[in-house]
Amino acid sequence: MHSTLPLYIDGEFSQSKSKRKIPVTNPATQLILTETPCATEEEINKAVASAKTAFQSWKETPSPERARLMLRYQQLLKDNHDDIAEILSQETGKIFADAKGDVWRGIEVVEQACNISSMMMGETAENVARDIDTYSYVQPLGVCAGITPFNFPAMIPLWMFPLAIACGNTFILKPSEQDPMTPMRLAELFDEAGFPKGLLQVVHGDKEQVDQILNHPDIKAISFVGSSPVGQHVYRTGTHNLKRVQCMTGAKNHMVIMPDANKQQVINNLVGASVGAAGQRCMAISVAVFVGESKAWIPEIKEAIAQVKPGLWNEEDAGFGPLINPQSKKRVLSLIEHGKKEGAHCELDGSSFTHSEFPEGNWVGPTLFSGITTDMTLYKEEIFGPVLLTMESESLEQAVDLINQNPSGNGTSLFTNSGGAARHFQHNIEVGQVGINVPIPVPLPFFSFTGWKNSFHGDQHAYGKQGVRFYTETKTITSRWFDEDTLHGPNMTITLK
Ligand code: NAD
Repeated sequence: MHSTLPLYIDGEFSQSKSKRKIPVTNPATQLILTETPCATEEEINKAVASAKTAFQSWKETPSPERARLMLRYQQLLKDNHDDIAEILSQETGKIFADAKGDVWRGIEVVEQACNISSMMMGETAENVARDIDTYSYVQPLGVCAGITPFNFPAMIPLWMFPLAIACGNTFILKPSEQDPMTPMRLAELFDEAGFPKGLLQVVHGDKEQVDQILNHPDIKAISFVGSSPVGQHVYRTGTHNLKRVQCMTGAKNHMVIMPDANKQQVINNLVGASVGAAGQRCMAISVAVFVGESKAWIPEIKEAIAQVKPGLWNEEDAGFGPLINPQSKKRVLSLIEHGKKEGAHCELDGSSFTHSEFPEGNWVGPTLFSGITTDMTLYKEEIFGPVLLTMESESLEQAVDLINQNPSGNGTSLFTNSGGAARHFQHNIEVGQVGINVPIPVPLPFFSFTGWKNSFHGDQHAYGKQGVRFYTETKTITSRWFDEDTLHGPNMTITLK
């Protein structure tokens, strides 16, 4: 019998008392790997109470000491990189190279969290008025919480809790119920790194547990990553309860291809960015916009995408794995069907792809459409599958207008050899993360993850300086010392010559 995953509360890995459990399956085989318990109200209250107590001493721990523990954690993550990636592959279906990338992008954020001392420095100004100085400190908030999606079960939890904890906060993580084994392994290594108990708590569950977190009076800040409808619910409820909230949500990312671009680079980059990781990336390119004569490359792109073979995580020639669950597969297939009915041309149809040994997996093969218009459901919805839509544009300006009219604003990219075109694009595009000849421009953690428009709700983005601002409060001190007391008073200790 498969085991039930424990909770991590007050420094202990313990079994939940909950009767409600959600199976975690391998998306390629449908075998049940474990069960996620849905934490009880009492267990969540206990986790928050423990985090609240731990905060009292952790906030007084000097930042270099906090950083030293974080250094130990990043080393443990590196030492266990392959092992975490293997767990991740099992429960997400990702091929091993993608799983390793998922873990690595998280480790990079932990490395950045090791620099916390300098990132938490305030500002000073002398003599802002006669004999008056002003200086600011940043201080942690208290108990923070993170709610994470299925598609990056290592990277996204690592966007959140290491930085929050390095800032001096304590943290409640509610990982996706679909792949909670990876975050649990991250928690085990956190425990092994020797942090004081109670800094990190992991509670499992779904909407019910999220709603309890959103309504808990002792939680000060919420980081959420997931789909747009859920993100809007989290943002509304969290802010209604006067919490600080940041929500990174759904996307529709376009790549614009100019006729002067390097054709082979376009083909190589577009293939990986669109169907790689089965298209289940919030920064995946789902729409390729061909400007002018570059549309002549579509047949070659189709040919290249057709070569990418779905497969098991450890199959050498597999380009990507299955979708996360049967419902996702059903949704993607129905969007493909809908697209055909709405008049889009399905140039390459992966709907009937199956794996000869594991036909029960959530497989969808690479799919490519042309003839897309902005009123089609395929264009309006986030597909989150290995489906590339192609569109044509007469000019760069027209392509920019198309993208600016799209309600999402997570990522976009331009392929060109013209500096002028690149500058026009980067200046005028209303999207928060822009690649110039870079297909998936996810910023490294010394920058922040800056999605715009409907892809983000909040003020401060994830990680980088904005992440530190999100997890801290600024205190500004204005101070004056009176010369007559300091220099001439009864306790005078210095003599002026
Ligand atoms: P999801 O919204 O279904 O789930 C995200 C989290 O919310 C999970 O922990 C889940 O348990 C919880 N949840 C689900 N339904 C809920 C509800 N009704 N009320 C409260 N909580 C609920 O998202 P997903 O399918 O796991 O992830 C894929 C989505 O995440 C895609 O839309 C993708 O674009 C988005 N995403 C965005 C970013 C970004 O940075 N913008 C990054 C990764 C993923």
